[in-house]
Amino acid sequence: MSRYLPAEWALPAIDKFNADFFTSGRLMIQECASCGHLQHPPEEACGECQSMEFKGREASGSGTIYSYIIPHHAPSPILADRVPYVIALVSLDDYPQIRVIGNVLNADPDKVAIGQKVRVTFEKVDDPHSEAELLLPQWELV
Ligand code: ZN
Repeated sequence: MSRYLPAEWALPAIDKFNADFFTSGRLMIQECASCGHLQHPPEEACGECQSMEFKGREASGSGTIYSYIIPHHAPSPILADRVPYVIALVSLDDYPQIRVIGNVLNADPDKVAIGQKVRVTFEKVDDPHSEAELLLPQWELV
């Protein structure tokens, strides 16, 4: 699969806190090993108890569009041939307090709306800065 955004567009820098989210091919949410707090995006410390020990919690991958934007003017020349595209903030159905940003792939931007159901899909990308293969969580309309 070619990337939704151009190959030159920046990729996330992978670290031990976000590696599960960007490489596992599962929708992994950070769960504090001390107090059980769920948080996203992945951070170095728990937002509730400041513990730095985490385990992963796999979400089902179904969600609802909480908000979205459609850039019509490219914020970078790299994106000039890609606009318009959809960036959605998705509330997870099984953890509604958790919201995950991603592109909505293969969707007519005029057909995207708040409240629509989406399902996670993983965009396979070779990271030229490491040996890693990324599996970027993205969204598709249900
Ligand atoms: Zn905690």
